[in-house]
Amino acid sequence: MHHPTIRTRIAPSPTGDPHIGTAYIALFNYVFARRHGGRFLLRIEDTDRVRSTPESERAILAALRWIGLAWDEGPDVGGPHGPYRQSERTEIYRAHCERLIDSGHAYYCFATPEQLDAYRRERLQAGKATGYDGSFGMWTRAEARARIAAGDPHVIRLKAPAEGECVIHDRLRGAIRIPWENVDHQVLLKADGHPTYHLASVVDDHLMEITHVIRGEEWINSAPKHKLLYEAFGWEMPELIHMPLLRNPDRSKLSKRKNPTSIDYYRQAGYLPEALLNYLGLMAWTYPPAPGETEGPEMFSLEEMIAAFDIDRVSLGGPIFDPRKLNWLNGRYLREKHDPAALLARLRDWMLNDGVWLRALPLVQPRAEKLSDVVPMTAFLFADRPAYDPHSLIQKKLDGDAAARLLRIALWELERVTPWNKETTKAAISRIAQIEGLKLRELMPVLFVALTGAPASLPLFDSMEILGAAMSRRRLVYALEALGSIGHELSSRQLKAIEQEYREKYLEQGKGETQAAGDGADGSGAEG
Ligand code: GLU
Repeated sequence: MHHPTIRTRIAPSPTGDPHIGTAYIALFNYVFARRHGGRFLLRIEDTDRVRSTPESERAILAALRWIGLAWDEGPDVGGPHGPYRQSERTEIYRAHCERLIDSGHAYYCFATPEQLDAYRRERLQAGKATGYDGSFGMWTRAEARARIAAGDPHVIRLKAPAEGECVIHDRLRGAIRIPWENVDHQVLLKADGHPTYHLASVVDDHLMEITHVIRGEEWINSAPKHKLLYEAFGWEMPELIHMPLLRNPDRSKLSKRKNPTSIDYYRQAGYLPEALLNYLGLMAWTYPPAPGETEGPEMFSLEEMIAAFDIDRVSLGGPIFDPRKLNWLNGRYLREKHDPAALLARLRDWMLNDGVWLRALPLVQPRAEKLSDVVPMTAFLFADRPAYDPHSLIQKKLDGDAAARLLRIALWELERVTPWNKETTKAAISRIAQIEGLKLRELMPVLFVALTGAPASLPLFDSMEILGAAMSRRRLVYALEALGSIGHELSSRQLKAIEQEYREKYLEQGKGETQAAGDGADGSGAEG
């Protein structure tokens, strides 16, 4: 029997910070491929042209490389199946879509947003599934020709059965049954001629010869559409392996409201990449115990994990990403894997190096009188949570509740800043001051304390540039927690009201709204 080389992929969407969940899924793809002498590739899924940014793509690649995962094929390293960036493959998807129109599996759809809205409302009222079922017409190419020529906006949709159920086979979960009535007629090609995630990812998985799709369980509901596509093209479907989602210690879905989710935060906070990777390996998998033992070791290297890995030992109970346990493991790496000289080398790699000092010293020079002033003045740059008195977050002009409200708004606004530098962060904060009717110098003190721990310190926006986006935002979360500890916690009701106000005052209509909700930009969005 012919065994094709195992090929797996990580397919991040470049729409935000590099997410810890991406590293987790990448790790299992990587280890599985390596275990079987296969290849692991990286593909950029930037079909969402509004939310995708080159900065996010760069940050994701850098973060995955930092954590120690290397891909055999990808946009930066090339390979025989390129290009590996979906925005460079538009013609491929269009040509494939044509095939589906020709074979009658897909159709032109001219339904207007108003029609689709009305349809959804009606179905909702009738207590039926709201997925679109093609009822406004499924046009063939011949039928549609005149309207297309006239420039009528349209999309191309995939037909789906109305009744019965779809059976998906998942290696870890067995047969998953999904009623067809829950599967809508998916848009394959959008009105702007760009593909959706579903079309692009199926076409690419096939052309890139992916044998195993290892991804998060949030994609299970998309699998029926993918199955339809494979059948329509007459292609073999790769094996599906849906990994359990990471959870907060309270078992809710891992979210940046409760825990940092950006890999950049962990790097900036001084976690060792091999410890973080080791910890991600403990999510959903355990190292097999040695003979006579009941439990395997918790500390293991990537090479050890590869040698011992068995995908069928992945457990589906929601793995808990517990920062305290990660701290414990990271501490063990510092102690057990480093003598002082080795630790010093790690500190230098991290931040105690000329590059960082040469960025910080110009900020210190106008303020320092003695060499001994320098370290205390810059300590906040090297900290995770700076030590400060929560009361210092309250200023004459801004009481505790007002400070909490502004910090919350600043957090949302700073989540939208890209690229991240002193000009762009200053512009964002100035905009807040303007919208709130405050002077910049009235708003600054609370931010100074939040970011640096002291009411006056090194220039704020330069400091934010050195701290980076993920750590700067984290500091705002710490400040919100500090205010909470002295009785200024925002209730969920207050938070809702602030969010509503924020959408109205700060977001242009219909734009950026998913980001405002807090976790929309983490790659788990339905757009892939
Ligand atoms: N682009 C999708 C994501 O960001 C990939 C999903 C998949 O692996 O099919 O998660």
